Amino acid sequence: MLAKSSPDAPFASAVLTWYDKFGRKHLPWQQNKSLYGVWLSEVMLQQTQVATVIPYFERFVETFPNVTALANAPLDEVLHLWTGLGYYARARNLHKAAQTIRDQYAGEFPTEFEKVLALTGVGRSTAGAVLSSCLDAPYPILDGNVKRVLARYFTVAGWPGEKKVEDKLWQLTEEVTPTSQVANFNQAMMDLGAMVCTRSKPKCNLCPLRAYCQANLQQNWQDYPGKKPKKNLPERESYFLILASQGKVALEQRENSGIWGGLYCFPQFETKDNLIAFLKYRGIRYYQEWTVFRHTFSHFHLDIYPIYVDLDFQPKDQERADWKKVAGNGTQYESNVFSAVKYWYDPQNPEQIGLATPVKNLLIQFIRNYYG
Ligand code: SF4
Repeated sequence: MLAKSSPDAPFASAVLTWYDKFGRKHLPWQQNKSLYGVWLSEVMLQQTQVATVIPYFERFVETFPNVTALANAPLDEVLHLWTGLGYYARARNLHKAAQTIRDQYAGEFPTEFEKVLALTGVGRSTAGAVLSSCLDAPYPILDGNVKRVLARYFTVAGWPGEKKVEDKLWQLTEEVTPTSQVANFNQAMMDLGAMVCTRSKPKCNLCPLRAYCQANLQQNWQDYPGKKPKKNLPERESYFLILASQGKVALEQRENSGIWGGLYCFPQFETKDNLIAFLKYRGIRYYQEWTVFRHTFSHFHLDIYPIYVDLDFQPKDQERADWKKVAGNGTQYESNVFSAVKYWYDPQNPEQIGLATPVKNLLIQFIRNYYG
């Protein structure tokens, strides 16, 4: 559970000496360090690279300078600032954890490992990273970068997503992490993974661990860490209705859980027939088909078919090539479409709401087409 090594042990000493010279010391969350800022950065860095995270981090701390400010903000505002960073459950968890800290710890970020670990969205590595970084507490970490360095150094076979491989890597990180200078050591391990022991073409000649690294000695770093067993991702499709009127677009907020939870999206249909039936039922006569595109999640591909409708459109020439007619539709509305729309998004005065990336991109396309 805790670090077991000494800063003078060969592994730790090589890593710490390298850090003094080459490690990153100017990242925004390393300045005026706080538990809140480091926690925020650690959550943002899960599955995301440093360069991408920096502008998001800066906007977040400017908008929410402390835990209580984050806890008191509407979830929509948090999701809005998160838009584009992906894995939105992280933002929802961050918000929920901030509320726990506000309500249970009077807004003071906890300093006990078990309390940090109990916060929503915080795992063992994140808890260790926060406490070691701010308090030099002797907790090892095991993020993707550290896994790669250790798997290569000790030639640990197997995919780290498997429990027994992960357990082995946790045991190794405990053994090499020193009980003091932990903040620098953990940062150094993340930096080594990101800058030297990179996924492809590691720079072993620049690595402080090269003399005893088994993968370097055996020249087989490609084999470590082991790859995730391949399985083809299932393919799904969805029809997005981009319904516009007076330059505004209809959006719906999704349930708070699952894919894009809490974000605003276009009305979605499983089949084109369902979408066309919706148009027909509401007396909508013309639509455009925009180019289909694919959005890939970690566990499936989603092929998105955007269908555009402008409720103000009155085609003089009904045969225009880019507009299609809803077959067999009369002129009488059976159901007023306006009553079906709960939220009109105004791109000229955009509200601070969270948008899924494909929705954001389609809105940009709409704005380009509509406003020129
Ligand atoms: S020597 Fe090469 S493979 Fe080994 S830890 Fe360093 S960069 Fe990675």
